[in-house]
Amino acid sequence: MNTEKNTDKPNIAFIGLGNMGAPMAENLIKAGYKLCVYDLSVEATNRLQQAGATVAQSPSEAVARAQVVISMLPAGKHVHSVYLGDGNSKGLLSELAEGTLVIDSSTIAAEDARIVAKAATELNINFLDAPVSGGTGAAIAGTLTFIVGGDAEVFVKAKPILNTMGKNIFHAGAHGAGQVAKICNNMLLGILMAGTTEAINLGVKNGLDPKVLSDIMLQSSGRNWTLEVYNPYPQVMESTPSSNHYKGGFMTNLMLKDLNLAMQTSQATDVETPMGAKAAELYQEHSTNYGEKDFSSLMIRYDNSVLSS
Ligand code: NAD
Repeated sequence: MNTEKNTDKPNIAFIGLGNMGAPMAENLIKAGYKLCVYDLSVEATNRLQQAGATVAQSPSEAVARAQVVISMLPAGKHVHSVYLGDGNSKGLLSELAEGTLVIDSSTIAAEDARIVAKAATELNINFLDAPVSGGTGAAIAGTLTFIVGGDAEVFVKAKPILNTMGKNIFHAGAHGAGQVAKICNNMLLGILMAGTTEAINLGVKNGLDPKVLSDIMLQSSGRNWTLEVYNPYPQVMESTPSSNHYKGGFMTNLMLKDLNLAMQTSQATDVETPMGAKAAELYQEHSTNYGEKDFSSLMIRYDNSVLSS
């Protein structure tokens, strides 16, 4: 592991060291960036201290010497309170030097990202919304897909940093475009998974072997990502969450969060998304009992026996 620090590289403040943020921050350290980190959880900051980061006791302390700020927070309200402040604090934007690059990789509503971007732009701070596709495995491996919204010149400046944590880095358009593209993708994924579980169940209940049916659909016009790498039926593929009691992977609750963001955007912009709405309804019901399981566990809705396979 190369932990040698290169002084040509900007100092980075990293805020939000959860399932995704911690491995992303570790990859930056491995690539030689100096990191000052902050999280509400001491357990989370301890992990990064061991990896070589400096731990700050407040968001202000974390950004004090940073030319770049990266955040990976749960939802829009956390991003707003960190950057814009709330009843108790001023918010980080008011403390950053002009020209600071702020990359928010949290998945939040496009409108929320645009509000922070506007406030940043007024202070001559360069803001990018840069949500990611790929779960914790991709965060650890440094193979995330970054879907970025913001000015093209700022995107070019951020790319070397994003390349350290990801493999595919896309510029989707202006502020908020990263979030829009991300939820379009995840809404489609939710629909594809819902359709695939439904089709496999129809075949199985009519006497077909799930593997044989999956192979047929994989080589036919129903082919899609879930059949290629993430089959929802147990033991059709090795190493999928479905073959491991739906543990790990991408939680139902996170899929539901993204589908709700897609519905919020479709309603706010008066765009019809009937399939997305149906997928959101299915995942809402499913989350009552299986929120912590991988999103392919929607298969349980149709076939309870998959839980014991
Ligand atoms: P997580 O809940 O594991 O981590 C969030 C971290 O933020 C926690 O450590 C929490 O203590 C910290 N935090 C919350 N409020 C804070 C504040 N005010 N200041 C500092 N730290 C604060 O979440 P995660 O799974 O890492 O996901 C982060 C984001 O990435 C979410 O927006 C999620 O939708 C998105 N995402 C997650 C996945 C995934 O597979 N987990 C995949 C793609 C995108």
